[in-house]
Amino acid sequence: LLVVSGVERSFDVGHQKLRVLKGIDLKLYSEQLVMLKGRSGSGKTTLMNLMGGLDVPTKGQIRFRGQPFHEWDDDRRTAVRRKDIGFIFQAYALLPLLSAYENVELSLRMAGTPRSEWKKRITSCLELVGLAKRMHHRPFELSGGEQQRVAIAKAIAHRPSLLLADEPTAELDSQMAAQVMAVFREIVAEEKLSICMTTHDTTIMEVADHVYEMADGVFV
Ligand code: ATP
Repeated sequence: LLVVSGVERSFDVGHQKLRVLKGIDLKLYSEQLVMLKGRSGSGKTTLMNLMGGLDVPTKGQIRFRGQPFHEWDDDRRTAVRRKDIGFIFQAYALLPLLSAYENVELSLRMAGTPRSEWKKRITSCLELVGLAKRMHHRPFELSGGEQQRVAIAKAIAHRPSLLLADEPTAELDSQMAAQVMAVFREIVAEEKLSICMTTHDTTIMEVADHVYEMADGVFV
C-alpha cells in the first residue's frame, strides 16, 4: 500500500539545517496495523506527515498505491489525501458545535461522497465504533473515549485505504485505550484498511502487527 524508501527530511532553522529523518525505509501492506514508537522528538510525526502526503521528503521516495508523492505538488497530493487517507491528528479534532453524526457527515462532504450515500455510511461507521446510541450527542456530551471513537468514525467514513493516527490513545485511561485499539483491529478487518499510528503506550503494542522504534531519525 505504501512504500517509504531512503527518506530524509531536514528543516532549516535559522542558519542551521536540522536533520530530523535520516534514512527511513518502511513497507506498509494492506490490512496491517503498525505502530511507531520512540522518544519525543525522534521524528514520528514528521514521518507520518510524509506518509499522509501532508509534506514531502528532502530526499528519498514515498509511494502510496504506486503514486509518487515525493514528485507531486501539494494540490495533487491533497486530492489523493481527501479521497483515500484518513487522519486522526490533534489538529483534526471534532468540531464542538456539531453532533457526532454531523461531524462524520462533514468528512463525507469533504471527500465528495454522493449525498445519497451519507446516511447509511454515517450510521454504519458510528455503529462500527459502538456509538449507535450516541449519534446526536455533541462532543462535550461524550466521554474522552467516545469522542476518540467519533474521530475514528470521521476518519474512516470516506473509505480511505490508509488511516494515520498520532497518539490516538494518549488522553485515554487504559480501559478506554484498549477499547479504541479493539475498534482499530475491527476496522482493519471490516473496512480492509491499514493503520499506522504513533504511541508511547507499551500496554497496547501487542495489538500491532509490527512496532517500529525510532531514535534520532532512524529505525532501531
Ligand atoms: P512527539 O512524540 O513529541 O510527538 P515526534 O517523535 O513526533 O515527537 P516530531 O514532531 O517528528 O517528533 O519532531 C522531530 C523533530 O523535528 C523535533 O525536534 C522538532 O522540533 C523538529 N521539527 C518538526 N517539524 C519541524 C518544522 N516544521 N520545522 C523545524 N523543526 C521541526
